Amino acid sequence: MGLERLCAQLEELRRAGLMRSRLTLESAQGPRIRIDGREHLAFCSNDYLGLAADPRIVAAVVEAVRRYGVGSGASHLVTGHSVAHDRLETALAEFVRMPRALLFSTGYLANIGVVTALAGREDAVFSDALNHASLIDGIRLSHAQVVRFAHCDVNALGRALEQSQARSRFVVTEGVFSMDGDIAPLPAILELCERFEAWLLVDDAHGFGVLGAEGRGVLEHFGMASPRIIYVGTLGKAAGVSGAFVAGAATVVETVLQRARSYIYTTASPPFLAAAVEASLTIIREETWRRRRLSALIDLLKRGLRGSRARLSPSETPIQPLIIGGNAEAVKASQALRERGIIVPAIRPPTVPEGTARLRISLSSAHHEPDVEGLVVALRD
Ligand code: PMP
Repeated sequence: MGLERLCAQLEELRRAGLMRSRLTLESAQGPRIRIDGREHLAFCSNDYLGLAADPRIVAAVVEAVRRYGVGSGASHLVTGHSVAHDRLETALAEFVRMPRALLFSTGYLANIGVVTALAGREDAVFSDALNHASLIDGIRLSHAQVVRFAHCDVNALGRALEQSQARSRFVVTEGVFSMDGDIAPLPAILELCERFEAWLLVDDAHGFGVLGAEGRGVLEHFGMASPRIIYVGTLGKAAGVSGAFVAGAATVVETVLQRARSYIYTTASPPFLAAAVEASLTIIREETWRRRRLSALIDLLKRGLRGSRARLSPSETPIQPLIIGGNAEAVKASQALRERGIIVPAIRPPTVPEGTARLRISLSSAHHEPDVEGLVVALRD
């Protein structure tokens, strides 16, 4: 049955320090999580605004469950699309100031769907070297020509675009990079897209809710708008719920709706999740203190580690990576923190490039100053 081959593969992973295992949470997501009966201080989620267990969102879910039940029962294009989804799409489009938005069940499905719906064999996709797996998979599935450009390297991107003869060109980048926390130089990239008549697809999974005064994400951060931009936001990170959306020109979004197989051939997410995100959007927009607190905590962490051996990568976002290098060393550092009751995940290849295994510290506005101070002491030790 080839079982031996699977065993050998697993053994190889184990030897390379690449075996992964899951932690099992016994509590809600938050700055303190219960694992194995013990409370831990957590710097490991993407719940940047501390909304994953917000009682107002929970209340919106309970109300929506009473009204719509639990399951959507069908795909969006059959009878799974409810007024809760519809209202949320309108609210999301308004929030990101784009003509139209389309909900997906996850960011992974959104990225696969948007790339395959828009790009085909005769097209070229210019992809940042550190793009997320879901973008890479979408590009592969699209059969478009792929040109990888060095991470955030606008000059390299310009040279590549200049040489392209493809029917349509798509530049694909994250807004905030998930494992590095740095922000793509989008104004310069958009300028290139305008010059070379390319589309700009921005996956803002980690910027939506976090960047900009109102939390509208990386486009608000840079004050950008353009009909060339196709924006993907995810709803399971700062928004605290689950799902994703694609926003852009109405024709683009209609094309995605008509063509994206990961939209068409899957059950619509439950309507109560849409109601949850609608409640979350109001909090994201109104509670600006959450983003101010995040900035203060980011500063506190950076100040605390200044001059120590533990060197953070340059990042202005709640994702603060501490590059360690070796896989085993990163895991050891993560385990040492765990023994002190602090959870910071070790991120290893293939999620990050070989030799750059790291601790990915992520902050949340639900953290308090003593939490971050405790992390600083542990890291310095
Ligand atoms: N894009 C990026 C940059 C991500 O980090 C992630 C999640 N890790 C996704 C897309 C996928 O989103 P989701 O978790 O909603 O599938």
